[in-house]
Amino acid sequence: MSHNEDLEEKKLLGSGGCAYAKITEQEELKANLGVPRIFLSNVGRLNEDRFTKHYCNKCAGEYPGSPAISYENPNEELGQGVILIEKGEYRCMTCNNI
Ligand SMILES: [Zn+2]
Repeated sequence: MSHNEDLEEKKLLGSGGCAYAKITEQEELKANLGVPRIFLSNVGRLNEDRFTKHYCNKCAGEYPGSPAISYENPNEELGQGVILIEKGEYRCMTCNNI
């Protein structure tokens, strides 16, 4: 690490809503696959304090702070030697929508 990476607030899309979080340029590059949209699932694990607000499609509400985040470590065998080490979900704290 030669320099401090700037954190920039970005809109991250999920299946049931979206969230705004501060991510680094590295994380952004990793997550956006050549499209001007960033998907939550591509960013990987982010700490709750990185989120600034989130929006839920189901209850159509915008809430400050992080969605409820739950992570599991299923170590699930997906076949062909691939093991799912970590699985994460972001849920609305109001209606529990993922
Ligand atoms: Zn909701």
